[in-house]
Amino acid sequence: MKFESYSIDEGIKRSISEQGYKKPTDIQFKSIPAILKGEDVLAIAQTGTGKTAAFAIPTLHKLTLKAGNKLRADGVKCLVMAPTHELALQIYEVFKTLGKYTKVSIFCIHGGVDQDPQKERLEKKVDVLIATPGRMFDLVSQGALNLSRVETLILDEADHMLDLGFIKDIRDLMRHIPKRRQTLFFSATINEEIKKLAYSLVTNAIRIQI
Ligand code: AMP
Repeated sequence: MKFESYSIDEGIKRSISEQGYKKPTDIQFKSIPAILKGEDVLAIAQTGTGKTAAFAIPTLHKLTLKAGNKLRADGVKCLVMAPTHELALQIYEVFKTLGKYTKVSIFCIHGGVDQDPQKERLEKKVDVLIATPGRMFDLVSQGALNLSRVETLILDEADHMLDLGFIKDIRDLMRHIPKRRQTLFFSATINEEIKKLAYSLVTNAIRIQI
């Protein structure tokens, strides 16, 4: 199995090849086709498995089918929630790198820095937003971030988000995100609490364990 055999945008294939990725990793092999088809995914995968590209490649592809030249903001289409600044920035870098030959616009927000430049950027087009739940909730509460157009919701390291006490922010944010959407739930570990959160967010998910 090679990346060339996927029906995905040529620009994305070019950046995959520039990254030196020869073939999909296990998690990519299992999740890319399901995500392309629009399925919800519940994946148990650790860092180092290639999980970020596993959700970035198919979601970027789907957005290339829609991304126009519009400069005006019409709402975030793909929302990625991550527990920490560091992880949010790492995910942002993967989306930027894999999406560099596409017109998909990508932005990352996290706490600990001034909100004003983030609010200014959010007035322009953002297709993919990667964010930590706390800052995201602040911006939504102030009306600076519109999540009513989200089509794909991705939770990365969901177990770590629960450990850090983000459950209330996640639950509050859900009230602003459409119920009809694709949800991709990634966690390194699984227990009853994580299962409960996962099954409250996904519908008929494909389950993938690496
Ligand atoms: P992650 O699990 O997303 O943190 O990725 C771990 C590392 O694997 C990163 O350095 C990626 O650049 C790399 N990687 C992701 N997909 C592939 C692939 N298909 N082939 C080789 N390396 C990859």
